[in-house]
Amino acid sequence: MPIYMFHPADLLIIPAALFAIWAQLKVKSTYQKYASIPTQRRITGFDIARWILQRENINNVDIEVTEGELTDHYDPISKKVRLSEPVYYGDSIASVGISAHELGHVIQHARSYAPMQVRQLIYPVSSLGSNLAFPLIILGILLTYFGIHAQWLINVGIYMFSLAVLFTVVTLPVEFNASKRAIKILSDGRLLTEEELDGVHAVLSAAALTYVAAAATAILQLIRLLIIFRGRE
Ligand SMILES: [Zn+2]
Repeated sequence: MPIYMFHPADLLIIPAALFAIWAQLKVKSTYQKYASIPTQRRITGFDIARWILQRENINNVDIEVTEGELTDHYDPISKKVRLSEPVYYGDSIASVGISAHELGHVIQHARSYAPMQVRQLIYPVSSLGSNLAFPLIILGILLTYFGIHAQWLINVGIYMFSLAVLFTVVTLPVEFNASKRAIKILSDGRLLTEEELDGVHAVLSAAALTYVAAAATAILQLIRLLIIFRGRE
């Protein structure tokens, strides 16, 4: 008997992979489109970040520039917003939108937004889970192959993986809410035209797709594991 044989549930990976690839392409193309359109007022990502911090009365967060493209993030531990060079220095619709989104995370943190707190709380166990899940499952399969009772190891691996799945799911409200806050602030501030706001909306909706794809992929992978290993004893 081979160690692992093809199982029909393996096919679940195909739609997940296709969705993830499509989401990546959609993000890239939407980003590139709006990264080439400057805002009428020539506001940079840095300007927007500083403006939102002032507007929200947040004085303990730094804005830094970081390498790469689409590497923008907020680090709640060191309280730093790190904007990629094209976003920090750029005055495009994409730069302003992405910067405002990261500031959305800053405001979530400052206002103790519950899903963000849950996300931070489960992050250590979730990353441990995602690192250990497959090694444990593979070890379980190997031991079983050699006639050693190890279904329990596979089960522990699947529990570990579900922690990683939970993280991708909790990430969704955090990301959608950061974009919602960004668009509200930009709209209230009247710094952008209606068309520019629509562009920001398009960029942030595309970016959200990658998180939806990550969660969908993780959920389908979990379902696949449950179908394959459920009651194999
Ligand atoms: Zn985000």
